[in-house]
Amino acid sequence: MAAADALAKVRNIGIMAHIDAGKTTTTERILFYTGITYKIGEVHEGAAVMDWMEQEQERGITITSAATKCEWKGHTIQIIDTPGHVDFTVEVERSLRVLDGAVAVYDGVAGVEPQTENVWRQADKYNVPRMCFVNKLDRTGADFFRCVQMMIDRLHATPLVLQIPIGTEGEHIGVVDLVEMRALTWRGETQKGEDYAVEEIPADLAEQAAEWREKLMETLSEVDDGIMERYLEGEDIPVADIKAAIRRATIAGRANPVLTGSAFKNKGVQPMLDAVVEYLPSPLDVPAIEGTAVDGETPMQRQPDPKGPYAALAFKIQTDKHLGKLTYVRVYSGTLESGSQVVNSTKDRKERIGKIYQMHANKREERATAQAGDIIAVQGLKQTTTGDTLCDPANPVILESMTFPEPVIQVA
Ligand code: GDP
Repeated sequence: MAAADALAKVRNIGIMAHIDAGKTTTTERILFYTGITYKIGEVHEGAAVMDWMEQEQERGITITSAATKCEWKGHTIQIIDTPGHVDFTVEVERSLRVLDGAVAVYDGVAGVEPQTENVWRQADKYNVPRMCFVNKLDRTGADFFRCVQMMIDRLHATPLVLQIPIGTEGEHIGVVDLVEMRALTWRGETQKGEDYAVEEIPADLAEQAAEWREKLMETLSEVDDGIMERYLEGEDIPVADIKAAIRRATIAGRANPVLTGSAFKNKGVQPMLDAVVEYLPSPLDVPAIEGTAVDGETPMQRQPDPKGPYAALAFKIQTDKHLGKLTYVRVYSGTLESGSQVVNSTKDRKERIGKIYQMHANKREERATAQAGDIIAVQGLKQTTTGDTLCDPANPVILESMTFPEPVIQVA
């Protein structure tokens, strides 16, 4: 596959949430469905989900790994851990810097909470395209529409409501998909394959569905010129064109697709993964990263081109029991080779790249190289700390001189 084709199928995403909204559960369910951590069907199905979760939690993999790779429908999804606590504002900003898109998870009862507000604002600062998942719809008091209104009032977001729930609390059985105008009904906790069945929209929801479909098209035409004219002329716009417009608006940061379900009950996680692939950007869709020459002043850019001069940003350092110090880096351009000499341009020091690892939820895979768009862990870096740039000695660049002019926002 040509490099550009491969890059177009990469989604580097973060999952952001107020503590307890369900970030961990959602991440675990994603890993469950993408099948990397657990082969569905090997164990008695009723126990499968819990067994797997307990195991993972014991090993602390999804909790501690700074980046985890999985595959979904021919795409590579790399989940970068985004700390949810306000105390780690610097860390949040740094992780936001290396991802291309994010899923904000909300508690369907609590709605938009203070920490989500903070992370949302930080994501605004870095122009991170975002979609929203209203979680915990099974809980008593869950209110999808109230949560959507809070996104407008508190986050000044432009929600593109792509689904409305069929029932809430104990009666939450599925959603109306407003893009394709059909019902998706959840099949249950441990279903193999697709976790939903496609059905007709229930008669008692037909009117509400039509109303929200109209709202979706209205909002979409406000944020996308391509759709506006056709909508105003009353054209019957094909699904593929609607999806393309949602993608454009999301990547441009003009709107936020909203989906819903209950991660804990495996409800709605697969349609959410479909939306990640469909609407969030690949490394090719985001602007080239801005940096400076080593003088710290002359502006420079790096394109996501595996053939360009290599440049990568260190964003997290972790100590692994077996491998020792691991530096997580995002490669922005070029190809990084294990064993090669690089320059840490931030510190003006030479460094040698030791082994390169791709981190999965349950295993690590050694790689000879890492290319633009990749997020990998490097062993053997001695002087590098987070925020440092590693680059080609012949083509130095400093990708980031992160400054934090804003005070840490205190939350009551
Ligand atoms: P995090 O702090 O955002 O990572 O939240 P967790 O994923 O740890 O979830 C917090 C709590 O909410 C846990 O007890 C989960 O089991 C529970 N939870 C997560 N998703 C759901 C859901 O869809 N429905 C319900 N009822 N509980 C959920």
